[in-house]
Amino acid sequence: MAEASITEKYRRKDMEHMVRSLILPSEFAKTGEQIFVKGSGIKLIDTDGKEWIDISSGGLCVAIGYGNQELPEVAKEQMSKLSHCFTGGGRALAAEVDLACKLVDLVPEGLKRFQFVNSGSDANETAFKFARWYWREKGLNKYKIISLDDCYHGATYGALSAAGGPLRGDAIFGPFAPGFIHTATPYCYRCPFNKSYPGCDIDCASALEETIEKEGEDTVAAFIAEAVPKTISYLALRDYWTKVVKICKEHRVLLIIDEYITGFGRTGKFFASEHSGLRPDIMIFSKGLASGYLPIVGIAFSEEIYNGLAQNDTYPIHGFTYTGHAVCCAVALKNIEIMLRDKLVENAADMGKHIQKRLAVIQERQPYIGDVRGSGLYWMEEPVADKSTKAQFEPKKKAQLLAQLRSRLREKGILAGALGLGIGLYPPLIITREEVDYVLDAMEWSYSGVKL
Ligand code: PLP
Repeated sequence: MAEASITEKYRRKDMEHMVRSLILPSEFAKTGEQIFVKGSGIKLIDTDGKEWIDISSGGLCVAIGYGNQELPEVAKEQMSKLSHCFTGGGRALAAEVDLACKLVDLVPEGLKRFQFVNSGSDANETAFKFARWYWREKGLNKYKIISLDDCYHGATYGALSAAGGPLRGDAIFGPFAPGFIHTATPYCYRCPFNKSYPGCDIDCASALEETIEKEGEDTVAAFIAEAVPKTISYLALRDYWTKVVKICKEHRVLLIIDEYITGFGRTGKFFASEHSGLRPDIMIFSKGLASGYLPIVGIAFSEEIYNGLAQNDTYPIHGFTYTGHAVCCAVALKNIEIMLRDKLVENAADMGKHIQKRLAVIQERQPYIGDVRGSGLYWMEEPVADKSTKAQFEPKKKAQLLAQLRSRLREKGILAGALGLGIGLYPPLIITREEVDYVLDAMEWSYSGVKL
């Protein structure tokens, strides 16, 4: 009997020993998953040695591309010197202080203090806890967190309680934590108020004010949203935030900006807050901080927030074992150096202009592309059954469409992300114009072959 290939062996072991998410158990049990062993530039390489262009940057992380050899050198050096020790309680690590000093010049104005944790969920949990702590130091019981009714801020219970929409998994994971309130999501293509921008009075921002008033502003600690909510049009972005910032100030509600995806050049600015001149009280970032080479996420606080936390000299009991991990911090610092040296944010901005033009043409020609939104190297298109009425696909049809698009892209050696409204385009920031054109040609080809 012929010996099983490496791929078959891995798939079998995968199916035998792993617990997977985001795939139906029946599907997983039938086929297992595609297993990768290597990466290089914008490509992943699987157990068969086949190369795939990864247009989702390994979950929006890999800003500098796969297979960089400078980061492992830094990791090795830091690990040889000092891997990690628990920080806080009188101990700190030089590597985390070095990283904070570098970031001060890059984050939106006013943010001056940092903590580094292991995941976006940890970061948002920290942000929520510290927002409550800030108000309690002032003698106020402002504890509610308001978020959009269609958003995602992490998989742990606090973060998931702030989430809304299908990614929350209410049916199997509920109930969620009390004190988390939802408000209207800015969704310009399908405005919940049946209006269109401009001329809509940004009712989605007014909805926040109504929510705060309904809950009672004395109970509301903070509003959290991504710097670019996934459904907003960039045209409306600045006006939306101008109104939201004013509402938050007037009602003494802290602004937590989640730049976990949008930070580090993804939208063509170092932070997407720059598109709207945002100066958050607390900001979390970023999948691109260490390009996914090691897990690290930053939380930035304004001096005003820090002073508020410290004002009564309360002993804070909060932290994770790996807070400020030295190797992660050293690698993140080098990753930032590479991003600045190789002008990757500028590349994202340039590629974004090119993609915008080409996607507009493709959208015009293809019947199933309803809306196209994005900037830099962060684009998504929203499929529709009928462009003129914006009629949605029924879920089964939509799943068929996405499956066909993914499968046709695979014929061209392209891997699309697993989640999202449509087929997102968010490749590593090192992508070249030729590679962008190859991907866009393939995207159009995949749409034109759809049979429903
Ligand atoms: N915030 C946003 C905007 C995210 O997209 C995610 C995850 O994708 C998170 C937070 C949670 O991050 P993590 O998966 O690292 O816990």
